[in-house]
Amino acid sequence: MDSEQKDCKQPPGVFHPVIDRNRCEGAKECVAVCPYDVFTMGTVEAELRRGLSLRGKLKGFAHRWQQAFASNADACHACGLCVVACPEKAITLSRS
Ligand code: SF4
Repeated sequence: MDSEQKDCKQPPGVFHPVIDRNRCEGAKECVAVCPYDVFTMGTVEAELRRGLSLRGKLKGFAHRWQQAFASNADACHACGLCVVACPEKAITLSRS
């Protein structure tokens, strides 16, 4: 972790990342950049798939339904690295 990554903006639990299921292509950039191991990769469940747009369903199918999940969201320090790193602009930070 470099000094820039340590200079996070909030204590944990104030913000959490929200992943747009219609945008995520499972590129894993968020997994790689998050200093707090907030993200894991997983399979989009059938119930979640039903709520996607047609474009989201096509993208999901093309990427074998592998997407990022904020499985450790309470550890988020709102540094914003994942928001910048995501090539699909699929991540936003939301106040908890
Ligand atoms: S903003 Fe993103 S990269 Fe930074 S701590 Fe939160 S989840 Fe991790």
